[in-house]
Amino acid sequence: MHGLMQDWPLLIHKIIDHAALQHGGRAVVSRSVEGPIVRTTYAEIRDRALRLAKRLAREGIREGDRVATLAWNTARHLETWYAITGIGAVYHTLNPRLFEDQIVYIASHAEDRLLFLDLTFVPLMERLQERLPAIRRFVVLTDGAHMPETTLREAVAYEDWLAEADDDFAWATLDENAAAGLCYTSGTTGEPKGVLYSHRSNVLHAMTANQRDALGLSSRDVAMPVVPLFHANGWSFGFSAPMVGATLVMPGPKLDGASLAELLVSERVSISAAVPTVWFALLQHLEATGTTLPDLDRVVIGGSACPRAVTQAFRDRYGVEVMHAWGMTEMSPLGTVCSLKPDYGDLDADAWLDVKERAGHAFFGIEMRIEDDEGRALPWDGTAFGRLKVRGPAIAKAYFRREEPILDADGYFDTGDVATIDRFGNMQVVDRSKDVIKSGGEWISSIELENLAVGHPHVAEAAAIGVPDEKWGERPLLVVVPRAGVEPDEAGIRAHLAARLAKWQLPDRIVFVEEIPHTATGKIQKTALRERFTG
Ligand code: ADP
Repeated sequence: MHGLMQDWPLLIHKIIDHAALQHGGRAVVSRSVEGPIVRTTYAEIRDRALRLAKRLAREGIREGDRVATLAWNTARHLETWYAITGIGAVYHTLNPRLFEDQIVYIASHAEDRLLFLDLTFVPLMERLQERLPAIRRFVVLTDGAHMPETTLREAVAYEDWLAEADDDFAWATLDENAAAGLCYTSGTTGEPKGVLYSHRSNVLHAMTANQRDALGLSSRDVAMPVVPLFHANGWSFGFSAPMVGATLVMPGPKLDGASLAELLVSERVSISAAVPTVWFALLQHLEATGTTLPDLDRVVIGGSACPRAVTQAFRDRYGVEVMHAWGMTEMSPLGTVCSLKPDYGDLDADAWLDVKERAGHAFFGIEMRIEDDEGRALPWDGTAFGRLKVRGPAIAKAYFRREEPILDADGYFDTGDVATIDRFGNMQVVDRSKDVIKSGGEWISSIELENLAVGHPHVAEAAAIGVPDEKWGERPLLVVVPRAGVEPDEAGIRAHLAARLAKWQLPDRIVFVEEIPHTATGKIQKTALRERFTG
């Protein structure tokens, strides 16, 4: 027997309709690529998305077609998402930080039909367009006055193009399982793989991510996603914020410490989100200038493990709570957020930091388990570690246009991370399974070494890799970027590590470098370091 409740498909346009009706006047503030800070509202974004949807339909874009974006976080970028999905097409975010060959591979694999791009990327696409014949038109996200001379195919200024349509348009009638968005993982090994989100998965993910113990956004929040919309579905902010009517602050192309601090203060941002490297730069800027952040309440930090020193600096100097988070492109992307359960009781300042070093507990919508190499479930005791697997309605079951199965017999997806889970369900990533250092049959967590190292005042950034060793198989090497203007004290760094680790876990060598290479999503590029130091 079926229940007798209404059929209300979970479609993305319902989010912007709701935002326009209930929170229509709430601001969406962008640092525009042209320079000035510009303001709009959810009501205007909806009107313009309807207009754009009509224009896209007139262009011949059909249900299921992929429409790419190569753009910073701005209101215009957000509008394109709602317009594209509103006609049943699929927004495909391209990451401009990828190598040019990867961008060509990804856009070809996706068969993108049309590309919205920021002014910043016009020269890049002029170089690449011949290799991307399927893209029929390039729409530059600017107005006629700022439109450059360009050789881009069928190029047009966004505002002019949008003005060719009115907003007398109805969103498409769609199945909630219809494809809505496409995002490729950066593919540090092998070709990039496309994760194809549906309307249902994005709406459900935004709802679950908005639980109070996760992002917990509300209409009283001013949310600034520094994490780009092109990184892992923008960590859900493009859907979660309008769903509850949170004010949105979009930082555009300027992601340096000074520019972010300016917006955090002037727009009175209450919650922000980014990978750790962004916060390293912001904290250095705040320290150097003595800027304080009176309105900032919490920052979501994920994508890589958040070092304890960062959580502590935010708490002790700025009164900001770090929400350590873990997730993956394949998970839409949030999996866990570290908000403290009451089970921990009263914690002193240090014990609180111990818990906050963990990546957090799964919120409703995510099932987690850890397994040994034989596939046996491991206990949640905070010590046993194994492969972390996940299951849920916003987790990929296959990659776009690839045959290989990616779920186990129980329907779990193997994250490729090795983790522990404590008795209260709080997960900690020990390492990426391919980055863990295996020394004499024991495992050394590269993440733990790195995060301890950045706790030393001379260390700006650190990376640990395993280098081949005849006796032990592998031994740890620590690569360190010293803080600007500091002559690093190697013996001091060693002593700092030795006070916290067993002797066999200590790096055999520490090397100092000016810069550590990063991937397009801000992670330490270990493959490059391994080539450099083990070759
Ligand atoms: P990409 O693989 O394209 O860089 P993802 O964001 O999908 O982008 O990467 C997901 C991976 O990032 C996770 O599997 C995990 O290894 C790592 N990661 C994310 N958050 C954390 C965290 N809080 N602690 C440790 N590792 C993390």
